[in-house]
Amino acid sequence: MLTDQEWTAIVECDAAYDGQFYYGVRTTGIFCRPSCKSRTPKREHVHAYASTAEALTDGLRPCKRCRPDGLRQPDEEWAASIAKAIRTHYADKITLSMLAEQQHVSPFHMHRTFKRICGVTPAAYLLLTRIEAAKQLLRSSVRTIGEIGEQVGLPSPAHFATVFQRAEGCTPTQYRLAHNNQRAEGPHE
Ligand SMILES: [Zn+2]
Repeated sequence: MLTDQEWTAIVECDAAYDGQFYYGVRTTGIFCRPSCKSRTPKREHVHAYASTAEALTDGLRPCKRCRPDGLRQPDEEWAASIAKAIRTHYADKITLSMLAEQQHVSPFHMHRTFKRICGVTPAAYLLLTRIEAAKQLLRSSVRTIGEIGEQVGLPSPAHFATVFQRAEGCTPTQYRLAHNNQRAEGPHE
């Protein structure tokens, strides 16, 4: 349900319509004021709401940028949702600017707030998550190093080896050998 007039207001970020309606974007699960400066969504994904209560009832979250509910989401909660998005999507070719876009914030704001709350940058957190997943696969699967890199979102073998070595102090191959040997020899205790 979206009129041409409402759609035009969204495309033009027309603040005159703020308070008259809100729009939710099905693909991001976020709702905004018409004036929001976030990227214009595809029309077929947009739904108009008469009130914030309706949008919330429909399961949408208020946009962090235009704050249609007039409330700020606590930074802790927000950082936790970023961390969760990273853990869910680390295997995809996600970038931090894509994450920031999804969350309707600037990459700079995301970097700064996430680091303040979590102690590491979103980039470092993404890399750590990928390395942990790679270690798990190196220990428990027979996939090649290249396949594992690909599977954890580090498709360039050279890049995978470099970041792995930097984090773990050994190459993926050495890591696998060390852990497979332990298992092959069986328990000595
Ligand atoms: Zn917005």
